[in-house]
Amino acid sequence: RIEVSHLIKNYGSNEVLKDLDLTVGNNEVVVLIGPSGSGKSTFLRCLNRLEEPTGGEIVIDGFNVNDSKNDLNQIREKIGMVFQHFNLFENLTVAQNITLAPVELGKMTSEEAEKVAKELLATVGLSDKYDAKTQSLSGGQKQRVAIARALAMKPDILLFDEPTSALDPEMVGDVLAVMKRLAKEGMTMVVVTHEMGFAKEVADRVIFMADGHIVEQGAPEAIFDNPQNPRTKDFLQKVL
Ligand code: ATP
Ligand code: MG
Repeated sequence: RIEVSHLIKNYGSNEVLKDLDLTVGNNEVVVLIGPSGSGKSTFLRCLNRLEEPTGGEIVIDGFNVNDSKNDLNQIREKIGMVFQHFNLFENLTVAQNITLAPVELGKMTSEEAEKVAKELLATVGLSDKYDAKTQSLSGGQKQRVAIARALAMKPDILLFDEPTSALDPEMVGDVLAVMKRLAKEGMTMVVVTHEMGFAKEVADRVIFMADGHIVEQGAPEAIFDNPQNPRTKDFLQKVL
């Protein structure tokens, strides 16, 4: 469960997040949409403390993310993140990418982590890539490895920042299929995406952000078929 209240993020005089309030329940899938520069990535990055908020409070499973007394590693164990450009170690093998964090952080022995890596690669359809060099994979394969890597930490929550935006169109479906299955299995997810089909089918709630504010939110049918705010209407007209 994510509880965000009065979240503010400024970069110098640029006010990027302006007093955001949001609660994401357990097992909920929230899709975040909005124009470029509206603060979607900044918001995700604040959730797992890749960015330091200027103000407000973020509580994840009762754990205050912004309290410097709390251990960042503990927060990042709870929240996994999947990025547009994968952020894998290209010169390591697929297995090494997945086992690295759980072993380094003392969550698992190497043997345990290798077993988990095998299982996760099977679930993302890449059993045959266990020993492959990461740089030899396609974009869609890399993104599925990135998802497996995030899952290896057994997170309660997964954040996705435009996970399919850098992929060739024929790779997008494989990645979305993995995400759909995670959603069905009850993973709590916050997803920034331009894939409106995915949002319609998978999201419990769609949030439209513009200019650092949550402008409108609701069930996918409500947002896509009957948007109330003129800015939501305008945005959807451009992307649908
Ligand atoms: P996009 O759809 O293009 O990814 P976004 O909604 O994710 O956009 P953000 O990347 O969160 O938008 O950026 C919001 C604003 O914050 C922009 O004005 C951007 O220039 C600014 N910004 C983001 N990161 C930084 C940073 N590290 N330093 C300074 N300004 C930043
Ligand atoms: Mg972004």
